Amino acid sequence: MEPLIQLRNVTKLFGSRVDAAKRLLQEQQSKEVIRKTTGSTVALNQVNLEIFPGELFVIMGLSGSGKSTLLRCLNRLIEPTDGSVVIDGQDILEFSKTELNLFRQRKTAMVFQKFGLFPHRTVIDNAAFGLEVQNVDKERRLHIAREKLSLVGLEGWENHYPGQLSGGMQQRVGLARALACDPDILLMDEAFSALDPLIRDEMQTELLQIQQLLHKTIVFITHDVKEALRIGDRIALMKDGEIVQVGTPEEILTHPADDYVARFIKGVDVTRVLVAQDVMKRPSPLLREKDGPTVALRVLREAGLSSGFVVDDTRRLRGLVTADELVQAAESSGRTLAVCSYEEVLCVSESTPLEELVSMIVTTRFPLAVLNDQLQLQGLVLKSSILEAMAHQRGAAYAT
Ligand code: ADP
Ligand code: MG
Repeated sequence: MEPLIQLRNVTKLFGSRVDAAKRLLQEQQSKEVIRKTTGSTVALNQVNLEIFPGELFVIMGLSGSGKSTLLRCLNRLIEPTDGSVVIDGQDILEFSKTELNLFRQRKTAMVFQKFGLFPHRTVIDNAAFGLEVQNVDKERRLHIAREKLSLVGLEGWENHYPGQLSGGMQQRVGLARALACDPDILLMDEAFSALDPLIRDEMQTELLQIQQLLHKTIVFITHDVKEALRIGDRIALMKDGEIVQVGTPEEILTHPADDYVARFIKGVDVTRVLVAQDVMKRPSPLLREKDGPTVALRVLREAGLSSGFVVDDTRRLRGLVTADELVQAAESSGRTLAVCSYEEVLCVSESTPLEELVSMIVTTRFPLAVLNDQLQLQGLVLKSSILEAMAHQRGAAYAT
């Protein structure tokens, strides 16, 4: 099957120094550097995408990741800086003004987050608006509008005004208006994001039902993972103006392309990277330096450990002591652990990123000690806690 929508290397830069920004982008400079040196924003960077007829295609990503820009490039409400947008075999960037108008009216329709209804028009006149623009005669456009209103469950509400309707119902009018023009492509930008959760669920169900009947090609934008997984035939995840992964919900859940995707699906705050604080375990049992070696040995034995961390009265780390060392100290009648020689342990701060922890832990046979600014022991990072954190990221991706 041929794709209905095909984006090739679509780039969009906002700002006044676009040429300078473009050069920096070609030199692989980061968005941040480009923004600082030129004041221009890279909203889309070399986006390639194919959407097939009849697909309910979801674009998800954090706010500012470029979703709306991408959607608006599909009907040239935003002009791409570079690349091509081919729809139904035609490069729409080459359309004349007239061709573009026709294309927008006949081929596509948009549904907006804030509904975008005319408050002084009745429900049916709102639904018929697109047909009115197309100069469809009154009888026919009202007939079609009534039909679409009934499709979205608004039979009987034709002569009310938008202000008399709930948010969910207003969005149904928006949907009916979009469907009235019988477009091949529906563009929905966070269309359900302003609705209460229950209403939102209902609207998702309804959209799926309508889609079963009409088989439109729908490009649906959301920042909500649950919504994306529920309704998407395929999903593209965007980050910083780029597409990180495209796949079916199943593919994205079972084979997230990277850590970012895995954590995004899990609903973790993806703007944060995992740090020592997130993966550390409570240091238990802790040995106190003023304890005697026999007491310390007993504590370790009860915990089934062959070594333990020693802290002073203020919980500052002294080091790690092995059971062998404790036995020796006990035999030479040491009164406190201060007589012991401690093993050196690697110390990290609470904000050390997981990546660094991984490279450190392989160099030592002991856990890493996590210290705060006062050098007090806050936790331990074990090999197993790192593995667990990494497995959890993966594993959680399987759960919805
Ligand atoms: P999303 O819809 O994912 O929240 P947008 O596509 O609206 O993201 O925005 C992508 C980036 O482009 C953001 O950094 C945003 O600030 C910037 N941007 C969007 N529209 C404009 C504009 N008209 N002028 C300048 N910057 C813009
Ligand atoms: Mg947006």
